Formats: sequence, structure tokens, C-alpha cells
Amino acid sequence: MSFETIAELLYPDITETPADIEAKFPRRVLPEGAKVTRLAPSPTGFMHFGTLFPALIDERLAHQSGGVFYLRIEDTDAKREVKGAEQDLIDTLAYYHIFFDEGATADGEIGIYGPYRQSKRAHIYQVFAKDLIRRGLAYPCFTSESEYEQLKESDKKAELMNKVWDPEELAKEKEQLRAGRNITEEEVRAHLAAGDRFIIRILADGDPNKKIPFTDLVRGKLEIPENDEDFVLLKSDGIPTYHFAHAIDDHLMGTTHVVRAEEWLPSIAKHLMLFRYLGFPLPKYLHLSQLMKMDGNSKKKLSKRDKGAALSDYKAEGYPAESVIEYVMTLLNSNFEDWRRANPEADYTKFPFSIKKMSVSGCLFDYDKLNDVSKNTISLMSTEKVYSDLSTWAKTYDTELYELLTENPDYAKKILAIGRGGKKPRKDFAVWRDVKPYLSFFYDTLFKMEDDFPAQFSSHDIKQALTLFAKRYQPDTGNSVWFDGIKAIADEIGFASDMKEYKQNPEAYPGSVADVSMFIRLAVTGRMNSPDLYEVMQILGKERTLHRINAAIERLEHVQETKEA
Ligand code: GLU
Repeated sequence: MSFETIAELLYPDITETPADIEAKFPRRVLPEGAKVTRLAPSPTGFMHFGTLFPALIDERLAHQSGGVFYLRIEDTDAKREVKGAEQDLIDTLAYYHIFFDEGATADGEIGIYGPYRQSKRAHIYQVFAKDLIRRGLAYPCFTSESEYEQLKESDKKAELMNKVWDPEELAKEKEQLRAGRNITEEEVRAHLAAGDRFIIRILADGDPNKKIPFTDLVRGKLEIPENDEDFVLLKSDGIPTYHFAHAIDDHLMGTTHVVRAEEWLPSIAKHLMLFRYLGFPLPKYLHLSQLMKMDGNSKKKLSKRDKGAALSDYKAEGYPAESVIEYVMTLLNSNFEDWRRANPEADYTKFPFSIKKMSVSGCLFDYDKLNDVSKNTISLMSTEKVYSDLSTWAKTYDTELYELLTENPDYAKKILAIGRGGKKPRKDFAVWRDVKPYLSFFYDTLFKMEDDFPAQFSSHDIKQALTLFAKRYQPDTGNSVWFDGIKAIADEIGFASDMKEYKQNPEAYPGSVADVSMFIRLAVTGRMNSPDLYEVMQILGKERTLHRINAAIERLEHVQETKEA
């Protein structure tokens, strides 16, 4: 049998050789040590939070080394493809400041290594497939039209995958499959004349009893059994399998580092075989463990339906992109948090990201930790940035808040500036969604009494404290004079103005200066806890402050009257 003839019979129109193709994809000229990485998603529509991990690693490895980061769309499975998914992916990653230098973009393609969509590269794969057949390293496997229809109906693949194989049966099946290797020129001619479809299988030379060394950048040295499976390279529509396509694309596009999910690790023997058959140098591989979450006391994989799995949820909740990236960095490199403590203001891209600091066991997703990181990240932002990012979020997710923020930007910024900029900035928000409940009392339309005056105090005392405060309130005295005024009120109504004394002898007083402050705080903000009260009043202004205090006095009077009636 002549492999050469079979190759010619199958692909008469393919005249190019691998060398011709290689010539169209020149080696990249990059500085020493520059890494070329890619994100190679299948556009299936759902963006898992976990996508950020390879994306960020790829981006850091490339850009930290003066290399290239490109986007390749692996759209070889038309059935799973979702319209608009590609655009969504590009937009979502851009939201997280992850940008590609090259590859598929919304406005076409950038770069000379394209097409960057696998569906547009069928010709290239076929050139290499033809060459493998010619060299006796791959062979066709035919299916008649009626067999094909049957296969389509029966979901044979799932059936075979789920089957519990009896070892003898399996050996027989393998033998049958291998018999296909001996296909003759005449058989090929006959099948083609009958219009039968064919797939291309590799002709595996591995012995599973032998092991080959393989080094994963995170997992270290591994020993894996050789591959003896004649796996599929091209499907009957001429479209490649992931295995074949990635080997050719990563080689031609000059990828130096392949970062991908651990689900591909079991296929590594196949990939080593492919690179060897094709004569390509092997890129470096980094297989990422599944993202885990705690489920009671045990770890479980963060699956599609779990809270936190969909990347779109983070934006909707109002996690700033910076917070999410910051959190992913803390998970990716064990020394990131120490670096952050030493460099609180620095951009994360200044951090020397290192594969060596990644853990083999994978990352554990934890909302509490994410929220802590986010609170810290937001606390370090400038007022302008908080205002701008919060408004952008509110425009889509909370129009009432958006209107309040934009009808008087200066007022909103004053509120958002509270506790910002000092050595110990306030950490009130983890997400933009937290902001409205925090600042609602600054807006008359949202203000309401959320907490009641504690029942242990007499309305008479509260009223008296509020009345005295209202009578004397001067907005611009400065914080300490203002507080002296409150102390004086405490003394006048028989409350302790000295906290030390009060703590020693609490029975002697109906309350303390802290309680007087609390009455005023409740009247003005409607709640027990608020940012610095003096500052709050400055922002609200004298008129609104007094209006709220007087309204509280009136309410107290009303309650008293109803009680007496
Ligand atoms: N298209 C593959 C996937 O979606 C990408 C794997 C890789 O990065 O090589 O899983």
C-alpha cells in the first residue's frame, strides 16, 4: 500500500506542504526570555470566574517578559457555539483590564499569525493531516452514509464513554479499530467513489507499559504512560479535534507557554505524540487545578451552578474590576499579599508574578476573603475614582442611586470622601451595592429612622438633649469645640460628661456623653452607626441637620402625648 497515494486520493486539492505553511508563519522576533501566551476559549457563552485565572497568568507571563498575549477562538464545535459569546468574552476581559496584543478582536483580527479562529483554519490542519498520512503516521477511517446517519442518531460517543468495558471486549474493540490501519488503496478508492465520509486517525506508536517523562511548570516532573490510542485528528467535516488543532496552532503561532485547565492533563501523552510526529518543539505547559470552594468541611469544585461561578455576577454585584483582579492575584501567588502590604498604592502589574509561587493544589474560592480584599481595594481609591466607578455601575444596576449621584456630583463626592485618604481609611464597602444603604441618610428621599431611641432612656432626657443641641448648633466650630458642646449638654441634663468617671460609676448617671451623641446621631442619621457625626452634619448643612433634630423632637412629643392620652 502506498501512503503517498492514499494521501493524494483523500486530499487531491491540497497542494501545499507543511513547509509552505511554516513559511507563512515566521518565527517571532522577540527579546530573550519573552513569553508568548494565548487564551484559547471555546465560545460557548458562559464565562466562569475560573477563566480569569489562565487569562491573568497568560497576560502577566507575556507582558512581564516583553512577550505577546493573543486570543485564539477555538470554535470547532459549532453545536456548542453561542452567538455573541466571543464579543462578550472580549468585553468582559477588557472590564478586568485584560487586553490582548493580537488575535481575534471585535473589529477583525490583529496580527500576522491568523486566522485566529480555528473554524477558518481548516485548510492548514488538512495540509498537516495529509502530510501525516503520506508519512504513514495517520490514516482514514470511513463510515458509509447509512452508518453515519445511525451514528448521528445514537450519540455513540456518550454511549462509548459511559460504557463499562469488559477487558476482553475492550481488547477486541481496539483490535478492530487497529484493523483500520491496514486500509488499502483500493478500499480508499471504493469508499470515495461511494461518497462515504471519513475521519483521520493518528497511527499511535506508543506502548502504555512504557512511561515518558513530562514536566509541568507547576506540578513538576511527571511520568506518564505512552499513548496507544489511534485518536481522531480530523472529524468527518474536516474540522480538527482540540488535540490536533492546538498542536498546530500553538506551534505556528509561536506559543511558548500553554496555560490551561487540568482536564487536559490526561491527554498529554497524545499531545507529546503529536508534537513528535509533526516535528514541532514542545511548548511549556502549565496545568491549572480546578477552582475549589468549601462545602461544609470538605472541598468541592466550584461548578457552573454555584454562587460565584458566573463572571457576570461580579459586575452586577458591583465588585470593582480592581478588587477581583487583586483577589485573583492573592490566590495565584502566595507572596502577593506580603508584597501588597509593603506596596499599598502600587499597581498590581508591578508585582513580580512568578510561576514558582503558584500552588499545585489549586485555589480555594472564599467570599469572605474576596470581600476583605475588595474593602481594602476600595478604601485606597480616590474619591474621584469611587464616584466615577460607582456612577457607572449605578447607571446600569440602580438608576435611583445613579440619579442621586449625578444630580449633585459635588455633594455625592463630599459623602464619598468621608474617611478617605488618611493612614487608616474607612473600609465600608466591599461592593458598589453596599454604598446606597451606607449613604441613604444623606438624601432626604431615602432618609428614614432605621433604629429607635433605646427604651432605657427617658423621652424627656432625649428631648432635652436634642433641644439644647438644636438651640446651640454652630456648624463651623471644628470637631473639638463641637464635642465640648455635647459634653456641656451631658452635664446639664445630668449625664456623665467624663467617660472614665462614668465607667467607674455607671449607676450614678442615667447615661453618658456617648449616649447624648447617640441621641443626636439617631435624630440626624436615623441609625446607631454612622461615619463621624461632625463631618456628617457639615455635609448635610445646618438647615437639614436642625430640621431632622426638630422632627425627632416632634416625634418624641407625639409619642409622649399618645402615651398620656
Ligand atoms: N478550547 C479549550 C477549552 O476551552 C482551551 C484549552 C487550551 O487552553 O488549550 O477548554
